[in-house]
Amino acid sequence: MCGFNFDTTYTELPSQFFTMQNVDQVVSPKIVIVNHELANSLGLNFRELNKSQQAQLFSGNILPKGAKMFSQAYAGHQFGHFTMLGDGRAVVWGEHITKDKMRFDIQFKGSGKTPYSRRGDGKAALGPMLREYIISEAMHYLNIPTTRSLAVAITGEQVMRETPLTGAILTRVASSHIRVGTFEYAAALQDRKLIKAMMDYSINRHFLSKIQKGENRAISLIKIMIESQLNLIVDWMRVGFIHGVMNTDNMALSGETIDFGPCAFMDNYDPNTVFSSIDRHGRYAFANQPKIAQWNLARFVETLLPFIHQDVDKAIKIGEEMLNNYTLSYKKQWLEMMKTKIGLFGEHKDDEILINNLLSLMKNRDADYTNTFINLSEILADEKKINLANINGLESWCNRWKERLSKNKKPITESISMMNISNPQVIPRNHKVEAALLSAEEGNFGQFYDLLEILKNPYKINQKAKPFQKPPAPDERVHETFCGT
Ligand code: AMP
Ligand code: MG
Repeated sequence: MCGFNFDTTYTELPSQFFTMQNVDQVVSPKIVIVNHELANSLGLNFRELNKSQQAQLFSGNILPKGAKMFSQAYAGHQFGHFTMLGDGRAVVWGEHITKDKMRFDIQFKGSGKTPYSRRGDGKAALGPMLREYIISEAMHYLNIPTTRSLAVAITGEQVMRETPLTGAILTRVASSHIRVGTFEYAAALQDRKLIKAMMDYSINRHFLSKIQKGENRAISLIKIMIESQLNLIVDWMRVGFIHGVMNTDNMALSGETIDFGPCAFMDNYDPNTVFSSIDRHGRYAFANQPKIAQWNLARFVETLLPFIHQDVDKAIKIGEEMLNNYTLSYKKQWLEMMKTKIGLFGEHKDDEILINNLLSLMKNRDADYTNTFINLSEILADEKKINLANINGLESWCNRWKERLSKNKKPITESISMMNISNPQVIPRNHKVEAALLSAEEGNFGQFYDLLEILKNPYKINQKAKPFQKPPAPDERVHETFCGT
């Protein structure tokens, strides 16, 4: 049916890692959106189904052949505190294998209670599911590793939050749902065999080609994980993305951005920006993300200590060295990334100062993060604009920048091309996202579809995108988002 080709391996792991699971039947499902482009890339086709059949499939009333539903056990540090968790409202259908032998989890979010639901109802509301759909797809088109969204269906039921809300189910596609928290879960059960099973499984599933025979597998896995998280965070910082809940259960081994709760993109540049209403102390603020990723990676290293070295002290020392390297590598990669945003080639001793000066000027002037970089490339593209009329107050910085650009040893056109690949023209601005979700809650999906369309070409200069490029007016500003679980 529809091209599904399941070959599920997760359920061959020791039974502590999952629970076989039924999904709740829903009364009157309606389909909101099917991601036909994503389906196509996975070798799936839902166009042959009518709307009602799509609704039945993406609400769990009809399951495709070969699906073996299960929810996963994991733990996690939530805002720094360890908790046993698990898929409280998510169920994996299985692992779909594409024609080119790629393996993806297909997962429902919001399909009912599981043994890991704790006090939750296992359900999801329409707004947060559409938010995940928009932001995850935006991340994909921004070329940032991410889980993706295949469909959203309305269940026809209400979910009780602070007020009754429209119930919905999201179908998510991920390279896997293994998390740092999955390793913490195995470690918390104090059974080395479980940790080893998860380590071997993760390596076999994701990294077999990256690990040579004879290497220490734990050390190699940690190095790969550090590198992929570092790349991911640098990408987030490039586009002004704030994840919002970087708990260890929301950090995926695959290196994909996962779990879009109160996440948002920053408008005006402020390193302390927090949108999440549950993040009272700013633990997951924009500028804290690199440090938090390192903190999470330390929790990951701890779970693997017994496999790094039999001698605990030596194991800790090796682990610490790898984590310390993260700090240096991050700084280096962040600097390289920021240089692409302002068109700098080569290395000059004052590059970092130049960039940090720009950022503090932006902060002091409440400058829009995305649009400032667009303005800089516009200035380069149009010699006449080099009087810098567009960026009020940055004149003297721009003069220093121009001087540095002259040392590039490359034509200015190459700087502009590099900047245009690095700096998005359009991001899912929070006020636009919120407006689309509000309207969807009222049954009008036009704004949601329009926003998705625009976000498919974030690096193209596009007249249609103009209204989506504007920062929010003061009364449009969204200060808080909540995952609304
Ligand atoms: P999240 O903040 O989405 O990463 O979720 C943290 C944990 O809470 C995960 O174990 C989720 O499965 C669980 N959870 C979130 N919402 C619900 C819900 N409505 N019912 C049951 N469990 C939930
Ligand atoms: Mg989560």
